[in-house]
Amino acid sequence: MMPRMSVIPASAQVPTQADVVVVGGGFAGLAVAGELEARGVRDVVVLESGPDAGREHYRAVLDEDTAVRRWLRPESDTSFWRPYRTNGGPHYGGIAGLRRRVGGRSLYWHGVALPIEPWALADGAWPEPVVTDLTTGYQGGASLYARVDGELAEWAGGATTSGPAVTVGDFVGTPTPQAVRAAGGDGRWAAFSPLSWWTSGTASVPIVADCHVAGVTLDRGAVTGVRVRHGSAVSDICTRCVVLAAGTVENSRLAMQSLVETGDLARPCLPGLVDKIAHGFAVTFDAADLPADLVDAAHQGVFCYAPAADHLRSNHFLILYRNEHGAIVLDTWLMGEQTGGEHGRVVAEPGDWPWAMRVAAGLGPADERLCRDQQHALGRLWEQVRDTVGLRGGDLAFDAAHGSADLPDRLLAARAATGRTEVRTYSFPLGAEQHEAGTTPLGSMLDDRHQFRAVPGLYAAGPSTFPRSGAANPAVTILALAKRLAGKLADVSG
Ligand SMILES: Cc1cc2nc3c(=O)[nH]c(=O)nc-3n(C[C@H](O)[C@H](O)[C@H](O)COP(=O)(O)OP(=O)(O)OC[C@H]3O[C@@H](n4cnc5c(N)ncnc54)[C@H](O)[C@@H]3O)c2cc1C
Repeated sequence: MMPRMSVIPASAQVPTQADVVVVGGGFAGLAVAGELEARGVRDVVVLESGPDAGREHYRAVLDEDTAVRRWLRPESDTSFWRPYRTNGGPHYGGIAGLRRRVGGRSLYWHGVALPIEPWALADGAWPEPVVTDLTTGYQGGASLYARVDGELAEWAGGATTSGPAVTVGDFVGTPTPQAVRAAGGDGRWAAFSPLSWWTSGTASVPIVADCHVAGVTLDRGAVTGVRVRHGSAVSDICTRCVVLAAGTVENSRLAMQSLVETGDLARPCLPGLVDKIAHGFAVTFDAADLPADLVDAAHQGVFCYAPAADHLRSNHFLILYRNEHGAIVLDTWLMGEQTGGEHGRVVAEPGDWPWAMRVAAGLGPADERLCRDQQHALGRLWEQVRDTVGLRGGDLAFDAAHGSADLPDRLLAARAATGRTEVRTYSFPLGAEQHEAGTTPLGSMLDDRHQFRAVPGLYAAGPSTFPRSGAANPAVTILALAKRLAGKLADVSG
């Protein structure tokens, strides 16, 4: 039997009014709704464009091989949805896109739980009160990051780090913090999703499935509600408080529709769109090629990370495992910060709601430099691996252009290898890391209360609100900021 959960299906009536409407039932939206309920805010509703398509993390449902293909070949996933066109090239195509279902990408993320680095929080882009709440202390208690860390560790069974540490050449890695736990005894696992608050009965805020928000309705510049398509019906839900939590690109669309209407945005275009810059290489060995300590570590399975040298604005990850054919796979990548600016934009075409969307993605000069620096650092590590193993062979060669159009093939090749292989490089197209962020930033478009300065009653949650995203994966910051936003809204409603 399905656990009890308050999901309103497409056949039912949608509410006609609510105190708080949360747009999007993915990572950020569910986190905000759950935190609001925990603070005693009543009459909240979550509107989710997709269906209730199961409540478990994809790694808990699928075997390893099928799951990896579901990630890297998302066209096989009926939930995969890309609500925008791109300006060509590999960026924001391929594996980039949303999962349109209750839970969103919280049912797909890999649990890597890192806070945004001090260097990215301390340069003035992030408002100082937000930084203090995230890192120093919040409302007289532990900082938001410390609270999220504690909650994820508890969910994971005590700690978010496990597994062996590993040293390869200059890379000295420690276990990557991950909010994961085993799901069955056959190697399947799940990463934390705020949807678990609903399945466990901790949260009961209604989630309306199959309910697509076409736009936010305004009167004299202030929020009066949202217009939704639910099943085949179009209707309005009245509210004075809307939280956009529909992922960065959909948040951008809904924000632009409102900001153009109020006259606060001359052109329907939001700059500042960033993802991550990531390059890596993978190679397979026979066990006999490697020192005993690396073979032992591979048998246990390694997923380690280390902050990279300062100029790289990156984290360095390394996985080492035995694939199903017995070959030992070493896969290592640097994932770093893309700079915001005009080179990453979300552009809308005004018309009937929902406006059509286009993503224009490219690299700024600092990003081009980072690509070269990451490739250089990986080239050095490859030389050290070659020396450790006593292999002869060429230097590491990356494609001239950033972003491997055939990224899935490159990532899947090592999994399929039956023995020793040539080293194979890869470069993530923008959007493929799924860390898209930055178009409705706190401190400029949003005030310190997460509210659009230009539209009273309109708030935003999720990575679109990050003024800088650093090298870290976004989920921990999504959860921490959801607590903060819920606190601000609770103050207003209380
Ligand atoms: C395979 C994979 C691995 C990942 N691994 C990690 C990791 O290890 N660590 C990490 O930090 N991050 C990871 N991520 C990224 C992380 O999942 C995302 O950053 C996060 O889910 C973004 O949260 P969000 O709420 O903004 O978007 P989502 O979780 O995508 O939620 C948005 C929701 O809004 C709904 N929606 C959109 N438009 C509308 C509308 N108009 N009306 C109503 N509903 C709407 C969507 O259907 C969706 O359910 C990973 C992602 C993937 C796909």
